[in-house]
Amino acid sequence: MIIDIKHLYKDYHLGNITVPALKDVSFSVAEGEYLAIMGPSGSGKSTLMNIMGLLDKPTAGEYELAGENTLLLNEKQLAAMRNQKIGFVFQRFHLLPSDTALQNVMLPLTYAGIPAAKRKEMASEALQKVGLSDRMDFKPNQLSGGQSQRVAIARAIVTKPAILFADEPTGSLDSENGAQIMELFRMLHEEGVTIVMITHEREIAEHAERILYIYDGKISENERGVKDA
Ligand code: ADP
Ligand code: MG
Repeated sequence: MIIDIKHLYKDYHLGNITVPALKDVSFSVAEGEYLAIMGPSGSGKSTLMNIMGLLDKPTAGEYELAGENTLLLNEKQLAAMRNQKIGFVFQRFHLLPSDTALQNVMLPLTYAGIPAAKRKEMASEALQKVGLSDRMDFKPNQLSGGQSQRVAIARAIVTKPAILFADEPTGSLDSENGAQIMELFRMLHEEGVTIVMITHEREIAEHAERILYIYDGKISENERGVKDA
């Protein structure tokens, strides 16, 4: 299993109020699997994604990623793991506005310490893969939403990560551009990349091989089971 999560809890504290965002979440993801996690707004999807992506820590529970007990890693080890093993795609793209598409895609390679000429070659390849060879020198405000998300996907895959996390990747796009993103994910899945995609839209979730449902911080294999819980 590339991901193994056991009895995960996450509480947020606001003043003296505790907000339980994840409640006893357990599941695994096999290497190469394409999983969707579907749930309504406020159900804990982004909280779970941030923990899976090593951007946040759980309040309690166990999280193993690629054989590592992530709760034992220090900040430096977590940053290295994020850079080497994980690619991220967010709803709002998170591109650097003053950088070109090529520079945005090169960025994770800079962190990885790859020499400049090699960075450029790898970033061009990734942009070619998402069909944007002709937009490499464009800045984010010169790109459409769909193109921006494809740049973000190129940035996510340029380090050849084992796992791709996507939080509402089509949430800011129209259905035609959303379909292009789903086509790219299908291609990456065929290449063996593990994908965990979070969405509140059924037709997007259905592109995955397996769907888990999250409702009020609890996860289930079965949609009714969650709603009745
Ligand atoms: P989703 O992504 O499914 O919309 P979130 O994970 O963003 O859900 O939020 C789950 C719950 O946790 C919500 O009740 C939300 O209000 C709460 N929450 C999220 N982030 C914070 C935070 N930083 N501080 C306090 N509460 C939060
Ligand atoms: Mg969210």
